[in-house]
Formats: sequence, structure tokens, C-alpha cells
Amino acid sequence: RKNLAAAKHDNLNPAQREAVTHGEGPLLVIAGPGSGKTFVLTQRVRFLTEERGVAPQSVLVLTFSRAAAREMEERYRKLCGRERTGVSFGTFHAFFFRILRTAYGYQADQVIGEEEQRALVSAVLRQKKTESGDFRSLVQNVLSEIALVKEERAELSHYYSVSCPAEQFREVYRAYERGLAELRKIDYEDMLRMCYELLKERADIREALSERYAWILVDEFQDINRLQYEVVRMLAGKRENLMIVGDDDQSIYRFRGAAPEIMLHFERDYPKASRVVLNINYRSTPEIVKTAGRLIQRNKTRFPKEITAARPSGKPVNTVVCPTPHAEADYLIREIRELVRGGARYDSIAVLYRTNLQPRLLARRLYQENIPFRMREMLPDLNEHWIARDLLAYLRLARDRAEPGDLLRIMNRPNRYIRREAVRMEGESLAGLRRHYEKSGEHWMDERLGKFAGELRRLGRMRPSEAIVYIRTEIGYDNFLKQYAEEREIEAEELFDILEEIEASAEGFPTVSAWQADGTAFSAACKARSKRTEAGDEVQLMTYHASKGLEFPTVFLLDVNEGIVPHRKANSREELEEERRMFYVAMTRARDELRILTCKTRFHRKAEESRFVREYESH
Ligand code: ATP
Ligand code: MG
Repeated sequence: RKNLAAAKHDNLNPAQREAVTHGEGPLLVIAGPGSGKTFVLTQRVRFLTEERGVAPQSVLVLTFSRAAAREMEERYRKLCGRERTGVSFGTFHAFFFRILRTAYGYQADQVIGEEEQRALVSAVLRQKKTESGDFRSLVQNVLSEIALVKEERAELSHYYSVSCPAEQFREVYRAYERGLAELRKIDYEDMLRMCYELLKERADIREALSERYAWILVDEFQDINRLQYEVVRMLAGKRENLMIVGDDDQSIYRFRGAAPEIMLHFERDYPKASRVVLNINYRSTPEIVKTAGRLIQRNKTRFPKEITAARPSGKPVNTVVCPTPHAEADYLIREIRELVRGGARYDSIAVLYRTNLQPRLLARRLYQENIPFRMREMLPDLNEHWIARDLLAYLRLARDRAEPGDLLRIMNRPNRYIRREAVRMEGESLAGLRRHYEKSGEHWMDERLGKFAGELRRLGRMRPSEAIVYIRTEIGYDNFLKQYAEEREIEAEELFDILEEIEASAEGFPTVSAWQADGTAFSAACKARSKRTEAGDEVQLMTYHASKGLEFPTVFLLDVNEGIVPHRKANSREELEEERRMFYVAMTRARDELRILTCKTRFHRKAEESRFVREYESH
């Protein structure tokens, strides 16, 4: 047994060994991607339980995402060759819930799910008639702000929302809380707060817990927020058997209240802490390590790190310029086929992107081509968007298949100065509108309505994608969107992103019904895919955020264009640095091959290569 254990240490480098075999007391491991932080953490758990006689039940390993927690547990199981290990691996979320369940008898269905949260906030916002440009992202932003207020324990009356008027936010917040109470549910922030208060007030529970979890290890510590940290500190108690590992360059949750300073100031809170720095990257080829290093060194607020690559030289990092997003999807399909023909598994390939609006076109193509893939996040349902509803109303009207409300919906998009009253009085039809204006003697409307009718006739003869171009340019829908955005002080770009995704999804379909049927089937397939939990041999599609902590032999980065990466909403230096860290996280997931794709045009507009490309390419 002993010899086996010793052999298991052989592949550790000296710094890693120091961290793994560290005795009692606080320990801080700070290091770049691929340097074995998670590896050392799992090795240390093995060391403690198998060589130091620590009871597995007294070891608690925490991280932030379920995927990361699962991956760690998996690695640990392999390491000790047993299915059941007794060690607790989990997310902060799951752990806090367990404490509350034990203390107050909470049940899983008493914690509100993300869907329910969105539904609550949407309902309140709808009542307020805030038809803002992108309702979905408004809801999301309001939810993150609610989380922030709760986490920071901010005083609501002194909090000024960035997503909507302050007064309105407070109302939404209160309504959300009422909704929670009515449902008799709590949310994650409540859980965190309740845990914190429970441990603060009940010394007996606090001591029992820190007795039980005598060893605490936290991965991805740069993502921790204040309250989580306070809870961890209370659990660690006087023993201070707390190991934290993290990388300040990979902190990408500041918008959710993560405070990477906590990691950087750890030694102030724990003067006895030992610090280990790991600086050899075992994951990636030197080409990938160097390229990513050139990028991240542009950030000003960071700990400088020297990282060398342990692996032999491999393929160069390639930047691939594609003429259009369609060409990009075709390229990916060819390359994936090529890799698989060469013996690669589908699940050794990952395609990563900045926002969950991006993978739609690719996912649809993969679906059509029967290439197995898995998407971590749900795609936003574009058919639900009001822009899609506008376009469909036009298309139905043009084909005499109008549904009630269609004409009313688009008759002034763009503005044709048609009074709603006309519809009320004469019914919802073009003929009715004509009658109304004839009666009222406003003859100049005749020409305008004639033009409208002519446009609809022409539309009726077009394929969906052609029709959308016509609506945008000839009918003037683009101008309407610009004006819409201006009046509401929202970003027109955001609306055009959505419009263009809708347009792209229509490409190649001969009829509206064929296009809609495909959309429905595709959405259903996506939902089924993202709900499934067991892993299959499938190409991995996910956002940069979701990829943290994971690694893949081949990584493709999608749409690396200005406006997307860095995202156009990032303007301040801090935000730009966060975007750079996000891109850095994405690049450093690759083991053997990293290919970065950019488009020359996106839909009908010229697209600029991301500034990050210049940064990693320049020496
Ligand atoms: P990230 O910051 O991305 O989470 P990390 O620092 O946690 O990265 P790991 O995922 O632990 O890095 O390690 C990266 C890869 O290197 C893993 O495949 C791991 O098994 C391997 N590795 C780590 N240390 C060694 C070592 N001493 N010898 C061989 N392989 C190693
Ligand atoms: Mg890791």
C-alpha cells in the first residue's frame, strides 16, 4: 500500500508535492490554467484520506458549478479506484441547501428554480408594460441585480438599478419577494443568507459542522463572494484546515459579486497560510500556452505569472477567417468530420462562444447533418421574440393567412400613420382601412395604403429569407428598429443581432410553414438535449463561462469578432479586462489544438476581427 502511494507521488512536481503533502493549517495555491490546481486538490484529498488516516467523511470539497464539481469527483474516483469514496464533493449551492435541510427540514422543491424565477420577474415586468427592446435580457439583468442586492446585503432604498428606473426596480424586487413567499420558496441568495445567519447565531450548529468537516478544500476560489467566504471561514473555525486554489486571471464572475480580492488577501486573514505557486502547464502545447500568455499579459490588474509548458511542441494556434457565419458552420462541420475520420471522438471536440445567442446557426447545421452534439445552455427561443412575431405577421398577411392582431401589429412598423381607431371601426383588414380613410376624406392615405398593399403582394411571392430582406430594406423595418431603439434608449445593435439570427434561420426554406416546422422540431430537439444529464460521445457546445475548469483535446472558438468578443457592452477598462480573462479561459481549455474562427461579414454587415486576435498574434 505504502509503495503504491509513493508511486502516486512520482508524477508530482516539487511545488505540487508541497501542496499535496501540506499538513495542517491554511494553504493557498495560486496558479495559471492547466498547472494542476484541480489535480493537486484531488491528490491532496487522496493523500489525506489514504496516507494521513483522515476520515473521508470529514473532507469537504467545494466549487461553483455542477459540471466542475462532477468533474472533480470523477477524477477523484478514478484516482482511488472506488465508486463510493465518502468524501463530500459539491457546489456551494448544494452544500448550503444541505445545511438548511438539516437545520430547518427544507425540501428541494422549496428552493426556487431558474425558470420559476424568470417567470416571476417576467410577470411583474409585463404588468409594468415595460416593453423594452430585449425583454429576455431585461429579465436576466433584473434577476442578477436582485441577486446582487441580496448578496451584498445592500439597502434596497439606496440601491440604484442599472437595468431599469430605480423606483421600478424596487417595486419589482418587492413583488419578487412577495411571489417567493406566496410560492413558499427561497432562492439561492436566501439560502446563502440563512446559512450565514444560522452559523453566526448558533454556535452549537457551527461547531458541529466544523467538527464534522474538519478539512475544507475550495476550487476556483477566485469566484467566491463575501458571504460565501464568511460561511467558509466559520466552518474552517479555529482549525483552519482550509485549502484554497484559484487563478486571478480566470475570475469571470465579478458581475455576480465575486470578489477576487478575497483570494489575494487570504494571507492577511490567515497569517499562518502557506502559499504554493504552480507554474508548469501540463494541459496544453507550448504553442497554446504562449499564445494565451501573450493575450493575458495585456491586463493591468493581475499577478504576473511565469508559465512554462511541460508538453512537447505541437500544432500552431490557427486563426481561421471565414467569409460568413454560414461558411463558418460549414467549415466546422468539415473539420469535425475530418477529425472523427482520423480517429478522434466527438466529445474530444469543443466549440466555445461568448454568448448563448451565437451557437444557433451551428447547432441547426449539426442537427441537419446528424452530427451528435450537446449544448450546455438553452438557446433563447427566437420565435418568442417580438421581432420574430412582427416578421411572421408580415409573412402571414402577405399570404392571406393573417391571424387576428397581425395587421394591427405591423401596420405602423414602420410608421404609416394609420390610426388604430380605423381598425376598431372598420375591422382588421386593408379593405377596412381604405374604407375608413375614404369616409373620413383623408385621401392622401389612399396612396400610402396602396403602397402597403403592393408591398404585401410582392412579399407573397418570395421565399422566407428573401422576404425578410425585403421587409428590412424596401419596406423599412430596419429604420423602424433604429428609431424604436433610439426612442427607448436601448441599443439598436442588440435588436439587429436578434433580427439577423432570425433571418439566418430562414435561409434555405422554400415556405414559411417549412421554416416554422423546422424551427419547432429544432427547438424541441435542443430542449431534449440540454435536459439530458448522462454524457454521450457528442461534440461539446458551451459558453466561455461554462467551460471553466474543463479541458478538451480540440477547441474551436466561434465568431471572434469585435462586438462579440470583447462584447460591445464592455466599455470601461475593468469590463474589457474581464472580457479578456473570459477569452483567456476559453483559449486555455485546449490541450492539443486551438482554432480561432472569425467572420469577414456577419449577415449583411462587414465584421471586424476581434482586437484580441491582434493581441495574441503580436509578439
Ligand atoms: P484550470 O485553471 O483550467 O482549472 P488546473 O490548474 O485546475 O486548470 P488541472 O485541470 O488540474 O489544471 O490540470 C490540467 C491537466 O494537467 C490535467 O489533465 C491533469 O491531469 C494534468 N496534470 C497536472 N499535473 C500533472 C503532472 N504533474 N503530471 C502530469 N499531468 C499533470
Ligand atoms: Mg481546475
